[in-house]
Amino acid sequence: MSVCVGMARHRYTVLLILAAISLLAKSGNGLYSPADQVTLLDYSNLDGILYNSSKAWVVEFYASWCGHCISFARVWKSLANDIKDWKPALSLAVVHCANPVNSKLCRRFEVTSYPTIKLFKAFSRPFVRGEHFSGSERSVSALRHYFIDHLEAHDENVWPPACPPLEPVSMAEVQSFFAFNDVLYLALIFEEENSYIGREVTLDMLQYENIAVRRVLKSEESLVKLFGVQSFPSCYLYFNDTSHRAASVKKETRIFYTYYLRRLPGVTRGAYKLTAENVTYGDSTETWKDFNSSKLYMSDLESSLYYSLKMEVVKHQELSGDTLMALKNFITVLTKFFPGRPFIMKLLQITDTWLRDVGTGPVSSRALMDVLNNKNRIPGAVLPDKENWVGCQGSRPHFRGYPCSVWTLFHLLTVQAAKHNNSMVLAGKSVQSDPLEVLSALRQYVKHFFGCRECAVHFESMAAVSMNSIQTFDKAILWLWSRHNRVNNRLAGALSEDPKFPKIQWPPPDMCADCHNEINGHHEWILDAVMNFLNVHYSPDNIDYSYLKEEEELRKKQQKVEEDTWQGQERTVPEEEWKKDIDEDKGKQEKEKSTEQSMMNEERQVNQRSVRRIRSQKRSFVKWKHTARRDVEDIVDLDLFVNEQYKKQALKGRAENERASMMSKKYRGPQLHLQSIDESGESKEMLQNWVVWGGDNVIAKKKWIGLRGMNFSRMDTGLCIMLYFLTALSLLSLYLYFKMMFRCWKLKYWFASACIGIKYSRERK
Ligand code: FAD
Repeated sequence: MSVCVGMARHRYTVLLILAAISLLAKSGNGLYSPADQVTLLDYSNLDGILYNSSKAWVVEFYASWCGHCISFARVWKSLANDIKDWKPALSLAVVHCANPVNSKLCRRFEVTSYPTIKLFKAFSRPFVRGEHFSGSERSVSALRHYFIDHLEAHDENVWPPACPPLEPVSMAEVQSFFAFNDVLYLALIFEEENSYIGREVTLDMLQYENIAVRRVLKSEESLVKLFGVQSFPSCYLYFNDTSHRAASVKKETRIFYTYYLRRLPGVTRGAYKLTAENVTYGDSTETWKDFNSSKLYMSDLESSLYYSLKMEVVKHQELSGDTLMALKNFITVLTKFFPGRPFIMKLLQITDTWLRDVGTGPVSSRALMDVLNNKNRIPGAVLPDKENWVGCQGSRPHFRGYPCSVWTLFHLLTVQAAKHNNSMVLAGKSVQSDPLEVLSALRQYVKHFFGCRECAVHFESMAAVSMNSIQTFDKAILWLWSRHNRVNNRLAGALSEDPKFPKIQWPPPDMCADCHNEINGHHEWILDAVMNFLNVHYSPDNIDYSYLKEEEELRKKQQKVEEDTWQGQERTVPEEEWKKDIDEDKGKQEKEKSTEQSMMNEERQVNQRSVRRIRSQKRSFVKWKHTARRDVEDIVDLDLFVNEQYKKQALKGRAENERASMMSKKYRGPQLHLQSIDESGESKEMLQNWVVWGGDNVIAKKKWIGLRGMNFSRMDTGLCIMLYFLTALSLLSLYLYFKMMFRCWKLKYWFASACIGIKYSRERK
């Protein structure tokens, strides 16, 4: 009884959490509304709508801040409107990935760029991730054709029940049509093989009764002759009494055919409803914050860190190779040059150290998220868990925000790097600074993580032309300024431009009159003045700290959001479950892959996934030992310790050797850390291990040799080798011993038989 009450209470709590998350979801503002003919999916309804559906789905994953998503929204809405009659067979949907409540969902679907389009067949099994749309042309008609191909790719056993046959008919089928179908008309669309009109009209008429539509290929000569078809495409009506007539339309196009057929006597719309699914997506209730555009806002900068790290970077389920390196470089320049509040810096330093320790990875997004969320509760280290735009506010929620803050952050970092270099030179310290350090980090960040892929491609093409020739810090500042102005120029008047914040060549004359000059009617920049202006504008002294949340508030919020999100979502989609399904799904796909190369890739992914699974199992242990960890935090002065530790490591670059020797002496493995904690010395030692451990990646840290998912330390390997030699040695001694024994025995035998022989010959004599 008490168990039942407990379970009921537990369920109630889960429901409350889900309701809270659902409210949060509704406050995320997207580019689509229920008025558009698209279904608005989010983490709470996607599984129920998409899987085991009797129709096929095409889903656009987008971010509202992404300029190309804003432009593409027009195409997607127009397409949704264009094929709204196809809904019983194929529907369009959208997922707003910039809404934090959907971030886990978008990770699950491996959405790393926007907009991403995925196709799902009817009756897709739960947790299938969909087929990635790889077509380069994204016009309404190209997409429509692609969707028809997608429908045709369904097997017979999963064919959407509402979807009429799309293949061409033969003479025999036409002749026997009315024997099997109780309709008034059979509309035949004669067309070339590569034409889509027949199938489009068939789908357009899907909801209409008393009529069926089929396509006839030009190559079906008997039918072409029977109907007397002269041109292609053309539409004919065929009746029950075997008579036929041409459709009287002014133009032989899809729209004219559809319009004509829908108005035939006796043709009526069927029972299908055209209304979009009843899913709502609320509007913004954010209040406007007044700001001064000549200032930088720490709130924007911190929001930029939040969004880039906790939303963009973690979209990659696993980081390794160039992607991991891009993250490392990004974090390194942040720890070096970002003038952040102490607790933000501490979190960045912890992340930096952890990333150095994981070496070449791979690193799971979940492990990274644990570090960013400070799962180990190291005091005085926290990152915001929500964006709070001030100077980067847009007049509507999808304008400005994140991309605005990325530019601001990197301008600030280029200026800070130059200042740092100057101060080192002035102090007479020998420095080996790289003027390209910040720009390279930005370039890699944009290349690997910036969700707007087309933006990334544009930026990369600019960087490839001239970035590497930069030789001074001032040139790096000016390069970023001038390239940003090029982007401003290109985007002026684009759909992504906030009408209240038009794209201008920056800084405008009212911000910096000295920066501008006019010679013979031509505008010219005074570069020295621009340089001075940038140095002042992007300096820590120009940062406004209004609208910021205090550390304590951020910490509490972070803990709560993290617990709610993981718990709530884990219940909605158990990770192991969907991973298992993904594995199965992958297995099925593997069969379809024909080339050796793709098979090798698959194998690699499966291996990586199994490593991930081992890691996530480890992580659950951490959760379990929560209380023990808190006890330790009460005992030691972690703040002081971590500060000292990381300053050394991040800024002086001595960490590698120190930590290597420390780890080899003191490392004990994750379970010990969480259990026995007594004295402060012990605790410090344990904390060191914690920090570098940072969650799941303990495997990556300690592993020396890995074999089929099992990792062996140096000691294991040493013992193994020793054991091997000992065994070999004892085998050798045994061999020698028996060999000697055998020889002795042989000698004895020979001697005995010789004696007997002598004795015998003597006796004979
Ligand atoms: P932003 O252009 O984002 O500028 C932010 C702030 O920086 C401004 O408010 C101003 O204070 C300051 N600023 C403006 N110009 C300069 C300058 N020249 N030097 C120094 N400071 C300046 N969107 C697309 O639609 N297509 C793209 O191809 C594209 N490429 C992008 C590439 C990168 C690397 C980034 C970070 C963003 C890109 N974007 C792109 C987004 C776009 O540039 C804007 O960031 C977005 O439209 C928001 O514009 P905004 O009005 O907030 O001002």
